[in-house]
Amino acid sequence: MSKSSKLFAPDGILSQAIPGFTVRQAQTDMANAVEEAIEHKSALIVEAGTGTGKTFAYLAPALQAKKKTIVSTGTKNLQEQLFHRDLPLIKKAIGVNGKIALLKGRSNYLCLHRLRQHGSSTTLLDRTTMVELSDVRRWATSTKTGDMGEMKALAEDAKVLPFVTSTMDNCLGKDCPDYEDCYMIKARRKALDADLVVVNHHLFFADMALKDTGFGELIPEADVVIFDEAHQIPDIASEYFGESLSSRQLHDLSRDLELVYRTSLKDAKQLHTAGEKCKMISADLRLLFPEKAQKGNWREMLSRDDVQTQISKLNDSLNVLYEVIKLHLSRDKDLDSIFERVSDARAKLTRLTDANQKGVSLWYETTMRHIVLHLTPLSIAAKFSKIISSPERTWIFTSATLMVGDGFEHFQRQMGLQQAKTLALDSPFNYQKQAMLCVPRFLPEPNAREMRQTLLDISIKLIAASGGRCFLLFTSHATLRAIAGMLEDKVDNPILVQGTTTKRALLESYVNSDNAVLLGTGAFWEGVDVRGNDLTCVLIDKLPFASPDDPLLQARIEDCRKAGGNPFGQLQIPQAAIALKQGAGRLIRDETDRGVLVICDNRLVTKDYAKTFLRSLPDMRRTRHLPNALAFLEEIHADAQDAKKADKIAKHNANSAAKAAAQSATEEASLQLAEQNLDNKDNASNLVESTDDQNLPEHNGLDTPDMFNKEAQ
Ligand code: SF4
Repeated sequence: MSKSSKLFAPDGILSQAIPGFTVRQAQTDMANAVEEAIEHKSALIVEAGTGTGKTFAYLAPALQAKKKTIVSTGTKNLQEQLFHRDLPLIKKAIGVNGKIALLKGRSNYLCLHRLRQHGSSTTLLDRTTMVELSDVRRWATSTKTGDMGEMKALAEDAKVLPFVTSTMDNCLGKDCPDYEDCYMIKARRKALDADLVVVNHHLFFADMALKDTGFGELIPEADVVIFDEAHQIPDIASEYFGESLSSRQLHDLSRDLELVYRTSLKDAKQLHTAGEKCKMISADLRLLFPEKAQKGNWREMLSRDDVQTQISKLNDSLNVLYEVIKLHLSRDKDLDSIFERVSDARAKLTRLTDANQKGVSLWYETTMRHIVLHLTPLSIAAKFSKIISSPERTWIFTSATLMVGDGFEHFQRQMGLQQAKTLALDSPFNYQKQAMLCVPRFLPEPNAREMRQTLLDISIKLIAASGGRCFLLFTSHATLRAIAGMLEDKVDNPILVQGTTTKRALLESYVNSDNAVLLGTGAFWEGVDVRGNDLTCVLIDKLPFASPDDPLLQARIEDCRKAGGNPFGQLQIPQAAIALKQGAGRLIRDETDRGVLVICDNRLVTKDYAKTFLRSLPDMRRTRHLPNALAFLEEIHADAQDAKKADKIAKHNANSAAKAAAQSATEEASLQLAEQNLDNKDNASNLVESTDDQNLPEHNGLDTPDMFNKEAQ
């Protein structure tokens, strides 16, 4: 019997040590496969349906193998959950003492050097930033980790953050006077020293691709690399294997240059002049594009005369900046670092404006104030397969959504993992009993004008039947806004709309209300875990095909076509099937959850490719008759109301019993105190032991993906 089979057996250590642990064959199978992959230093891809308990299934064999391991997950929240809850629990259960570490991206750590820099010149900061800066300064005197996440009151997008954290561009590395005390360096050293390190995908690929100082040393050291939420990897890896340059970067560069001029090199006014000029020219480049944020084909834009002229001005201004800084080299460490950034920006601009390159997409995106130029490889398969082939080590890729239809080909092809072993594990949930999929009859065509009215009518019916507790998920912001606007006048339930506040705040309001309806797009399609009667209905407006205007997708389609492939079948359908699977996955999160998934897209019935989508979804009961779905929702709602009443009565009874017990305990305690005073015994150690036991977190072996899918890093 393998180590994992013993561990996960009904009478195994996990059953004995973890309260509420339930044995699941799929979890044991996954643990065995991971154990084998570690033994043979091979690559393994596992799709484990929701509820399999995949976190324990990879952590247990990895810890038992006692090899240097990196676990990379999708978001910072998932990192925190894994590190603070799952890892300590399983370590304690199996009695492994290896060192573990949590490593975040550099922007999460306080940069002592920048904090000091801005202490001596605050004239460049506005009032809000000054107030935030003094809060950071106060916190900086007591923090042990320098993790900005400790400052709970500071907004995630606080204006002060760029002034007190570093980027790869402005970090001085070994030349920094604060190097020895640097929190980021300390976190990285701890990670190097640990047996198991928890990172996120952005950090992993940033360091793998860019060889960022420090962490780059960790990857070559690892024997085992485990990617959870692995369906996100192809996009994230493409981003980091590519290049980008933004007007914001040039703006920041000019700001840092200004700081050097004002604080350290007051005689070098040319620095200020050259920096300002570069900033203005990059801002003028943005002005050549429409005010509304957009994405587009940069190769096409490069044929425009006005764009060409502006690019050539930008190039000239970077050259001037380069020459001006060169005159002052070695006078100031920050200036030396800015010089590197200018050299890097010059080289990037050359590559980003070379329209003749093959195998890459050149595209741009604009925000209200800035423009970003991107170069993205059309495929990362060759590069990634080279990375995993040498040196020999174990690679595990797992997620609840890797397969399209019945196979892994799409993921394998994207990642160059054709040789990897694959394993598909069904969710232990009884979807036939727990869930219903409804594609209502008589739907207009997805892009028809009357579709919005239909969506509104269906939403109103669903909300009434389920008493709120619905997610309405949309594929576009325009439809989201339109339905939100119309719905507010039609129902009394609180309507929570993406974009009105942060995702975290919306989810908190949703969970705290007992009849709210949440309307969201992309950000709510994954990484949201609302269980039980809090979420009983998910509506999806249409099949989530990526926008055909997406320049990267366009380039990939073109490339696939040139290679004789079928881009719709090979790219667009698989991508949409995985996105649909993610959205649908919000509904059933636990073995007692029940609910209805409504997909308002008749292509699921009329098109040949529908079977790929349907095969990718869990095996729910199906209906085309909306009243059937409404009846099921009404039944769930009625049961939930009954359960609520019963819960109230039970709580009331428990309170009464507790009061009675407290009264008798008070009498008992008076007696005991009298006895204790007599023999004067110290029972402190018993108290500590009992507190420890009470603190043992409860875990049922299920996955609990993060509730708030924040930006990683
Ligand atoms: S080494 Fe880099 S991150 Fe650390 S304090 Fe210095 S500049 Fe900041």
